Amino acid sequence: MHLKSLEISGFKSFAKKATLSFTSSITGIVGPNGSGKSNTAEAFRFVLGEQSIKSLRGKRGEDMIWNGGSESGAGRANRATVSLVFDNSPTRAGGGQRMFPSIDFDEVKVERVVNRDNSNEYYLNGSQVRLRDIMELMAGAHVGATGHHIISQGEADRILTASIRERREIIEDALGLKIHQWKKLESIRKLERTEENMKQVESLRREIAPHIKFLRKQVEKIEKAEEMRRELISIYKEYFAQEEAYLCAEKSRLEHELGAPKKELASLDHELERAKAILTASKNKDQKSEEVIALETRLAGIRADKDAIMRELGRLEGEINANRRAIEKEKEKQKRDEFKTVYLKDLEDVVGTLSSLPTVAEIIQALKSFITRHRGVSDSSFIGEAEKEIATLMGRKADEESRLKGIGESESKYASEYEALKRAIEKEKDTNRDAEKDVFRIIARQNEVRGVIASLTGQWNALSHEEESFKRELGEAGNIAGREAVNYSELSSSSAGASAASSSRADQADKRHHIEKLKIRIEDAGAGGGSEVLKEYKETEERDAFLARELEDLGRAKEELLKLVAELDARIDYEFKSGILKINEQFQSFFTLMFGGGKAELTVIRETKRRKKSDAEELSGMLSEGDIEAGGMPGAGEEEESGPEGLDVNVSLPRKKVKGLMMLSGGERALTSIALLFAISQVNPPPFIILDETDAALDEANSRKYGDMIESLSKHSQLILITHNRETMSRAGVIYGVTMGADGASKLLSIAFEDAVKVAK
Ligand code: ATP
Repeated sequence: MHLKSLEISGFKSFAKKATLSFTSSITGIVGPNGSGKSNTAEAFRFVLGEQSIKSLRGKRGEDMIWNGGSESGAGRANRATVSLVFDNSPTRAGGGQRMFPSIDFDEVKVERVVNRDNSNEYYLNGSQVRLRDIMELMAGAHVGATGHHIISQGEADRILTASIRERREIIEDALGLKIHQWKKLESIRKLERTEENMKQVESLRREIAPHIKFLRKQVEKIEKAEEMRRELISIYKEYFAQEEAYLCAEKSRLEHELGAPKKELASLDHELERAKAILTASKNKDQKSEEVIALETRLAGIRADKDAIMRELGRLEGEINANRRAIEKEKEKQKRDEFKTVYLKDLEDVVGTLSSLPTVAEIIQALKSFITRHRGVSDSSFIGEAEKEIATLMGRKADEESRLKGIGESESKYASEYEALKRAIEKEKDTNRDAEKDVFRIIARQNEVRGVIASLTGQWNALSHEEESFKRELGEAGNIAGREAVNYSELSSSSAGASAASSSRADQADKRHHIEKLKIRIEDAGAGGGSEVLKEYKETEERDAFLARELEDLGRAKEELLKLVAELDARIDYEFKSGILKINEQFQSFFTLMFGGGKAELTVIRETKRRKKSDAEELSGMLSEGDIEAGGMPGAGEEEESGPEGLDVNVSLPRKKVKGLMMLSGGERALTSIALLFAISQVNPPPFIILDETDAALDEANSRKYGDMIESLSKHSQLILITHNRETMSRAGVIYGVTMGADGASKLLSIAFEDAVKVAK
């Protein structure tokens, strides 16, 4: 027994509190017309959450509340309350389970209150809850939402008049499939949301794809530049180590080679002084001796001048070269700026600024300053000034060269004088002449030694230039490739140092050439802002990867939902079809019992609709062959479309030719629907069934059969029967009589069967 009691207070005709206790598996409710019996059935529907006031025979919620009687003038109520008490103790039949497993009490009381302001309140064991909580709780206990187990007055054949789809719904509900259908609906809704999310994520990924592509290209460039920089560092290290070793070796060689001639020159100077002293101190010094001394002095002066000019020329040359290098560098830089790449974002910024300017002049100005900003700091006047400087230096160089030429001329003049004097002195023989000869010999040797020293000094100067450019290169290397490039010492101390000597200058020149090429390529790659681009690339890539994972997750979720929907579909389909088989078995047996034979069954059919074809479809249909069919097919421009599955009821009565529901009499119709209702209830018994005058149309013989069926039904479901039928009353264990006094209020009394017949009238 599932139902314990129903308490009605202020609901419809029940002005005062009335309680029905359901102590038997069959409870009868009897009473005269209009006494309030149907109101008790409605009280059930009301307390279980019925939302259609119309189906409770009212227009507004207020119509559910006791409206006051006519004669006694008993005041109307402010609220209607109905509560239903279930037995929730664990039963042996239920395998030790409670009817509502989620509630850990032996009694479950649901209560609904409607107030005059149309507000509703729901309570579960005294605590206020939402309507939804009640609905879910009831659905779980197979107290269905379509109310297939509460048959209101005159509604017995609802199952026969319903459309094939409505019928399918009623039966699905009765078979307890609604819960799967809700799950399926929920899954479909989730599926739609998932698909929507997938679309959004896909569009986000599509949006960032070009940006990633752009950044990837930038990153590739940066990585290429980094690769080149590593290559540059390694070449630089070898180059510097070898260059340093070379410079060191050359320096010490030159120092060594200069030692002997310098020493000789010093001793020659000394010898010359001595020889000149002899000549000056000599008593027989003559005209020629003085000439020799004077000539020597002049030659020494010329040589000193020549040396000074040579030094100045060397210096000027150095300055001119430095200026030329600077010009070349500047030109290269400017040339690179011509093809400089700017960021799209910078360009967008400038476009943003442009749109706020009104005049062409302002726009041109803004564009010019954009170009200047991105060209890099370049000084166009620099080249002009450096060229001017070169011109001045060249002028000075030419001056010095002409001075050198002048000196050379006087030197050769003196040289020929010197030769003549030398020859004249050769002919004479005396001491003075010996000293004079010494002077000539020394001068000649001095010239030779000076030549050697000049050549070595020239080499030394050249080496100094190489050393300068070595130092300059070190500075540049630090700037372009980083400090690591100038950390070549560990290399020079070991293998490279040793190989430096053997490495030819041609090798070094090759390396130098390679270095220059790499430098240009690195600068072209524009390594600036590398770390920012890498960071942005990493972040954007991570975001994309996150979105990809999200998409994967969503895809998986979608797959799972599709699977779930398919499983639910299969389950619903299977349970529905096997349920129909079972119902049909019962239907046939109840039908046979009622009519003493005949056939009755439910068949699953598909609704077919005729749809008008679109012009395009019709045209393509006309063009395709084998489409021309005989009559009975859809008309031209029409197409048959299969609709959703539904349920049809097929009956054929014994001894009668006519078939189909339309041909049944009122009583036959009532019997058929009762047979079907009972069949359904037998297959998946609800906890209780309320039948409001379902037996009204039955004759005496059929009333007895109806009574038999009720008894077999009551083995699984508790029955509450509102009836005027004596036979039905006789099957009830408990009978309540409903009467209505002069005050228009219904009263309830428990009565014995003998009294029931009287009360019913
Ligand atoms: P029958 O045997 O003819 O089917 P019944 O016993 O089922 O009759 P009900 O339909 O349950 O009778 O009761 C109808 C009575 O309830 C009517 O007399 C009606 O006036 C009364 N009634 C309905 N709503 C209210 C209300 N809000 N206040 C007072 N009386 C009401």
